[in-house]
Amino acid sequence: MVTHSINTADVVVIGGGVIGLSVARALALRGAGTIALIERSHPGSEASSAAAGILAPQAEADCVDDFFDLACQSRTLYRSFASSLLEETGIDVELDNSGTLYLAFTEEDEKEISRRYEWQTRAGLPVERLTAEDARLIEPGISENVRAALRFPLDVQVENRRLLSALVEANQQHSVLLMTGTNVESLRVQRNKLEGIETSRGFISSRNVVIAGGAWTSFLKASDKALPDFRIEPVRGQMLCFDSNPRVSRHVIYSPRGYVVPRINGRLLSGSTTEFAGFDKSVTAFGVHSILTRALEISTLISKLPLIDLWAGLRPHAPDNLPVLGPYKEIEGLFYATGHYRNGILLAPITGELIAEAVCEGIVSPLLASFAPERFTPIGVN
Ligand code: FAD
Repeated sequence: MVTHSINTADVVVIGGGVIGLSVARALALRGAGTIALIERSHPGSEASSAAAGILAPQAEADCVDDFFDLACQSRTLYRSFASSLLEETGIDVELDNSGTLYLAFTEEDEKEISRRYEWQTRAGLPVERLTAEDARLIEPGISENVRAALRFPLDVQVENRRLLSALVEANQQHSVLLMTGTNVESLRVQRNKLEGIETSRGFISSRNVVIAGGAWTSFLKASDKALPDFRIEPVRGQMLCFDSNPRVSRHVIYSPRGYVVPRINGRLLSGSTTEFAGFDKSVTAFGVHSILTRALEISTLISKLPLIDLWAGLRPHAPDNLPVLGPYKEIEGLFYATGHYRNGILLAPITGELIAEAVCEGIVSPLLASFAPERFTPIGVN
């Protein structure tokens, strides 16, 4: 990958994770002019490659709300997102349509899946209720202790590392300037207007900046102006990866305590933990033990699989668990696309579309209303 060096751009995107890359590509497709994407390390090096790639709003939601609507709309966009990336780059992101199973092992789990089944059927969402026998018929590898299950046919998965490669390639095809190994140090603001960014390679003048810095967003400061008062915190998620040839399952499989994700190439991911541990990306004995316990509850067959990899990533978490999306009205030209927490892979297509629309056309979709940066009050001048 060529690292570019420039001193002016029409739009700068800070952060080369799935969010920054999706926004930059969507900007390029709308003809936003010269777009620079600035990444401190290399694209996809942080949370986005640590993820499991599950696109499962229904399996994870407890009610219909604005976040659920946004997540379902992004899930709907995935098919065309994947096929246009294939067309642009030749990279298949392995969008797998097998669906997601959600298993109950205890009486409490059964109550939980009943609640989920009831509100989702009332809301007209596709969800199937399965007996233990039905569940084992479609997934013979699952534990004998399963008591009941739900199947969400529209909750699917994508191979997120292939997705990152495709997005990098697509951005290159669309002439987005990728500046890797470059740290953005601060935003230069003059009288409520963006002038550009200070980087480790010098100043880049730009009237539009999109902050997609993931868990590191809150390190960014602005000269002469307060940024909204929210702190994006890192939430560590650890992950194990097994060699599962032949595959243990076709579906992504959840229990209320963990999940397993079968990849086409036989890798089986299992996660995860939710830990406020600062910027420490260690894999710990506690993490491995708890993930393994939950994976074995789903399928004892996993006990025989070679453990071939393990890692941890830092999810970007805003104080109210919701993403921060859209223009910051106090500073002309500043946009946020951060705080995607557990759902950045799922929300990438819609984030790209809606942020690019806001930058290029000045249209702020009503879908973004609940996620505006203004919901956090401004702090004093930095
Ligand atoms: P990141 O991928 O972290 O990218 C941010 C980038 O910004 C980094 O590369 C960083 O180097 C760069 N950066 C930051 N500050 C600066 C700066 N000042 N200058 C230059 N560059 C900077 N989501 C799902 O939808 N489905 C899942 O199944 C799923 N599973 C997950 C499992 C685990 C274990 C983890 C950890 C996360 C999971 N997620 C999942 C969440 C998802 O990974 C994140 O929400 C998503 O990756 C966030 O993307 P991002 O681009 O905002 O952040």
